[in-house]
Amino acid sequence: MKQGRFLSFPERSFLLIVKPLKRPVIIDQLEALSRRLPPRHPRYGKIVNDLGGYRSGYAGEKHLLYTLRSFAERPDLNFLHNVRLLQYGYHFETDLMILSRHQHIFLESKNFKGRLEFDGETGQFTRVDADTGERQVFRQPLLQVQSHRDDFTGWLVKQKLSAEVPIEAYAVLTHSQAFLDPASMDKSMAGRLFRSEVLPQRIQKLLGQKTGVCLTDVQLQAICDRILLMDRPLKRNVLSTYGIPQSDLITGVRCPACSQIPMLKRKTKWCCGRCGFTGNSETVLPPTMRDYALIVSEYLTKKQFMNFCHMENGPQASYYLRKQRLQMKGGTKGAVYCLSDLLK
Ligand SMILES: [Zn+2]
Repeated sequence: MKQGRFLSFPERSFLLIVKPLKRPVIIDQLEALSRRLPPRHPRYGKIVNDLGGYRSGYAGEKHLLYTLRSFAERPDLNFLHNVRLLQYGYHFETDLMILSRHQHIFLESKNFKGRLEFDGETGQFTRVDADTGERQVFRQPLLQVQSHRDDFTGWLVKQKLSAEVPIEAYAVLTHSQAFLDPASMDKSMAGRLFRSEVLPQRIQKLLGQKTGVCLTDVQLQAICDRILLMDRPLKRNVLSTYGIPQSDLITGVRCPACSQIPMLKRKTKWCCGRCGFTGNSETVLPPTMRDYALIVSEYLTKKQFMNFCHMENGPQASYYLRKQRLQMKGGTKGAVYCLSDLLK
């Protein structure tokens, strides 16, 4: 089945992933940025630390999907990962929505390791690192997903779509070494914040309940279609997010084999001084231009290309850009090349 296509009810015979789980682009962006900053750079440590957090979050979401594999045969469930919608002037993003004709389920996964403490009064959520004893405060995931649920209800009303179906919101702890401190749990969290092992039972129980509401296939399809239309994935400008001037970046062609920067130009080939890899423009330039698209901009001029790739020969640079078959705006002079195809 082609992912992302909504099928009418009789056609559906297995898990329907309306919007599949994809590796978040911020991971690619921070990987590219960390490769192009010297380790002694003042923001380097923060970037590497944040990168670890995003990788861990993605691992948690993959685990969540694995946990739900037993629902793969249900034709009535529609899975949408990482939907980001605008409501009340702000965007909200949900890790996983499971939509059906009788009820919707919102899931927020947290891949935290260590002892997790919750304060129902203040909404404070603290992680105590098992090794170092260090305490860190985070957003309380259940309050977070419940807030997204309320935003979504408002969004459905605003979109003039059916908002009668009940929406359950759960926060799921996906790390095998997450210890949920039972003494810190209050009634509002019971049955709504739990480890991932419990999730299939909870979903099964929920799906067995009669809600008294039933959308038609057409109504459910309209909701899924509108979500896909209005979904606005976040792409950050990482240089401004971390307050890094572009001039701090290590420029030059990056070796596709070992990531050494810069590669050395030898006539029509580039050579890596570290691992000995040798390649032509079709092989070595796309990864470097992808770095530019992830860190700086999805558009670049010939001059920017020459600066970033340390090229001095203008006609040769034009030749290489033409060979990349990039989308182009403007005439030969002042042309802007679009790098978005390199991010797919
Ligand atoms: Zn190399």
